[in-house]
Amino acid sequence: MKEQAPTKGKNKRHNQVTFKPYVQNQGWLLPPSLSELIPEHHMVRLVNDVIDGMDLEPILNTYEGGGSSTYHPRMMLKALVYGYVDKRYSSRDIEQALQENVCYMWLCGMQKPDHNTLNRFRSSRLKQTVKTVFAHVLALLVEQGYVRLEEYYVDGSKLESVAGRYTYVWAKNVSRHKAALLEKIARIIEHIEAVNEQAEAEATKKKAEAEPLAVGDSEALQETIERLNEKVADQVAQNKKLKKQLEKLQTEHLPKLQAYEEQEALLAGRNSYSKTDPDATFMRTKDDHLGDGQLKPCYNLQLGTEDQFIINYTVHQTPSDMAAFTDHMDDTLQVLASIDAPRPKRAGGDAGYGSEENYEYLEQNQIEAYLKYPGFHQEQKGKGHKNPFHYTHLYYNAEHDYYVCPMGQHMELQQVKEEKTKTGYPTKVHLYRAQRCEGCPLRGICHRGKTDRIIKVNQRNVQYRRQAYQRLNSLRGIRMRQKRGIDTEPVFGHIKQDRHFRRFLLTTLAGVSTETGLLAIAHNLKKWWVKLNKPVGKVPPPATRSAQMAPKGPKTGSWQLFFEKMGLEKLFLTFDQFSMNLLSPRFKVALARTTSMNGDF
Ligand code: SF4
Repeated sequence: MKEQAPTKGKNKRHNQVTFKPYVQNQGWLLPPSLSELIPEHHMVRLVNDVIDGMDLEPILNTYEGGGSSTYHPRMMLKALVYGYVDKRYSSRDIEQALQENVCYMWLCGMQKPDHNTLNRFRSSRLKQTVKTVFAHVLALLVEQGYVRLEEYYVDGSKLESVAGRYTYVWAKNVSRHKAALLEKIARIIEHIEAVNEQAEAEATKKKAEAEPLAVGDSEALQETIERLNEKVADQVAQNKKLKKQLEKLQTEHLPKLQAYEEQEALLAGRNSYSKTDPDATFMRTKDDHLGDGQLKPCYNLQLGTEDQFIINYTVHQTPSDMAAFTDHMDDTLQVLASIDAPRPKRAGGDAGYGSEENYEYLEQNQIEAYLKYPGFHQEQKGKGHKNPFHYTHLYYNAEHDYYVCPMGQHMELQQVKEEKTKTGYPTKVHLYRAQRCEGCPLRGICHRGKTDRIIKVNQRNVQYRRQAYQRLNSLRGIRMRQKRGIDTEPVFGHIKQDRHFRRFLLTTLAGVSTETGLLAIAHNLKKWWVKLNKPVGKVPPPATRSAQMAPKGPKTGSWQLFFEKMGLEKLFLTFDQFSMNLLSPRFKVALARTTSMNGDF
């Protein structure tokens, strides 16, 4: 039935409401191509072009062949990459878009893989190859001149794992419980041996001397249980307690000890891990909504950027940025080498990165270090270390290598000690000793030890820091310090705030790295697209639709036209500087009437 809007008022012809024709089930004689429905400069076209130009050999190599036909990896890759560009991180969301969204339909040629297929492709095929896809996009950015690879800004941020926050396993608890269990095991073995000794006094004595009872791991415990079973086989039949103890060792304590060892292997030097995502480590994050300092299962995401393009990404299990830096840079140099791009000339980072190991790494790789170090800002303010007796406040004679203590004593070099940092980096510590602290009036505040004061100084690190201080305060250093805050920091803001990616969806380090790779590709493509569609230089804001349709030249009823009619074009320029508000509305209307205009001021 044809719907008609009611007419109002007397003049029915002019007041009639007219609707545009709406025929929902109208058939298409010639259906339009999907491409026609997508705007010319749409983001999806860039994703399509970039992936079409890619060499898919690394992904194709992951297919074994045989079996039924499978979806083409190019289509699957396009769906996933565009999903991440479109803030659809879940495979179910992408599956839904493939059925409803015309951009996805066009991109995938109307193919509709389900969420399981998408997820399998992401977590198996892309696991090893996502870095290659990322490197391909990076190579295009270098080719287009968006990335020059001169300056490399690095920063890190913690991103929460999908694991629950109450699934923790603490390393300290594991080692405490393991030690208690080993003690219990030792007591049981001791008791069994003592019972055996009573039965076979002489033979046992000889053997006990030869074989100590110490059991350190599950393997040794298994051997001991087997040995004891043979040894006390005769007594087990009469002694029920002995039998029970041997059974307890085998069925209860041995599996427990094996479980602790497995936990230690999973920890691999970390302080904690999550039961539901063993690769995640409990870390302190800045976005602690409850403010109770609760640790969460996280990964440490390291990004290297230039002009807000991501040059490389790595995911780490350690919360320390300083410890992750060399691994991150190693990976970056590999990525750049894979696309025949030069390595960056300079690297900038915040105070979480300046360490002897990191400075040396950059020096060896001919990259100028603009890394701040802990205490840099204090030095900038001229405050130095808060302890006035700290070695940094003491006079140092570089020529003869000695410090002068606050009482004027020379602290001569006593020893050079080799140590290792937490990351295993070998370092040398110089020990300087005061000559005689006994009876010193400053004793107690300068030095509380019983012997003379000894200070530990890493001279190499001191030199690196001095060099970094000079660099960071040079003109280039000041500029790089300023730029660091608006280069790498906003990228984390885009990912977490604008793109709403606050938590990983996959578990394990490999899964999380794949997700980060897709995120980084999406970020770079989005940035590229913005640059493509934004002319370089200062441009006026886009005109509104009505402004675009307005005729060119002085506007009807404008002051410019009025002055032109009066032959006073030059006076208009002066007049134009005054605000229209200076004139009364009545005067404006009168002026409009004199110029036969409609008062459009
Ligand atoms: S305590 Fe020892 S090192 Fe400190 S000021 Fe006195 S003499 Fe010097």
